[in-house]
Amino acid sequence: MENQATEVTINQTKLRTIQGDITQQTTEAIVNAANSSLMGGGGVDGAIHRAGGPAILEECKQIVARRGRLPTGEAVITTSGNLKAKYVIHTVGPVWHGGGKGESELLTSAYQESLKLAAENKLSSISFPSISTGVYGYPVSQAAKVATGAVITFLRQSTTSIKEVVFVLFDAKTFATYSSALRETAAKMGLNLA
Ligand code: ADP
Repeated sequence: MENQATEVTINQTKLRTIQGDITQQTTEAIVNAANSSLMGGGGVDGAIHRAGGPAILEECKQIVARRGRLPTGEAVITTSGNLKAKYVIHTVGPVWHGGGKGESELLTSAYQESLKLAAENKLSSISFPSISTGVYGYPVSQAAKVATGAVITFLRQSTTSIKEVVFVLFDAKTFATYSSALRETAAKMGLNLA
């Protein structure tokens, strides 16, 4: 049970966890845990730019030239280059400073602004990595609660084009943590598991 992929339905949108590589997902959009420069980096950011090719960085440069650095908690959308997904939504999660610097609000915003952008672009499906829990140091168990709560709250508040939301977790431990957080958050919010 601990390690099982979990699925819940909110307002006709399916929300689930899988273990895998986000660059291989076939959802219409994948989300990048970017940094404010939008110039690429390590972790999932590096993997997305490597797999998608130079078209993504080209568009990121144009965005930064137009509007400047991307503040924490905000999101922008670009082409996906060579990826199977059509779009990459770049968002910036907070760096963990102990929890007293608005980290949970900023992480909530990163998820919800990404979903808002997907809905504005009438997208039907979107995959998220575990934002902020790598180099940015957010503890996974706390991030998983915030992430699942943020997505469920957003999907409950509005009916959108989005029919499928997937948390794509790279390693077994993060996958298990998000799967149990999704079950807990769903139970707390009175949702049925699939
Ligand atoms: P941040 O800077 O927001 O902390 P990182 O990229 O350092 O972002 O890490 C975020 C999470 O993404 C980590 O759990 C890391 O294991 C995971 N990750 C790294 N590569 C991939 C990938 N190809 N697909 C999905 N998740 C990945």
